[in-house]
Amino acid sequence: MAKEVSSSSSPSMEEELEIYGSESGWVEARTHCDHLPSLSPDLSHIPTPDSHCSRCDHPAENWLCLSCKDVLCSRFINKHMLKHYQESRHCIALSYSDLSVWCFSCDSYLDAQMILQLRPVYEIAHLLKFGVRPPLVTVENLLN
Ligand SMILES: [Zn+2]
Ligand SMILES: [Zn+2]
Ligand SMILES: [Zn+2]
Repeated sequence: MAKEVSSSSSPSMEEELEIYGSESGWVEARTHCDHLPSLSPDLSHIPTPDSHCSRCDHPAENWLCLSCKDVLCSRFINKHMLKHYQESRHCIALSYSDLSVWCFSCDSYLDAQMILQLRPVYEIAHLLKFGVRPPLVTVENLLN
């Protein structure tokens, strides 16, 4: 008798689609965003990348709200960052899993290396996560 291979543990088609979205391939990060004025004026002190979600205590791969510096879980967990955006309109968040920056209002990634307002917090997050600054020209060099 052929033993039935357990396939019930793999995600259903619908779940896969919800997780990965449309197959649009590489998404270009924006180098401009109208919502940068909503950034916190003090992004030099941010929670560490291992901070738990402030609502459900999820321990990893959370997002940092760049308006109020709250740490919230991703849309793959309990969607607390998304809910925070819907409640507060804080739209720009930094991923502690890959340090990408997402703007909910633009519905797009932002290029944290090209957008000067985002570079300092990107560098600090990189420093906190990897122990080194990212391999790019520093803000100081750009200003000189
Ligand atoms: Zn935006
Ligand atoms: Zn959460
Ligand atoms: Zn916020």
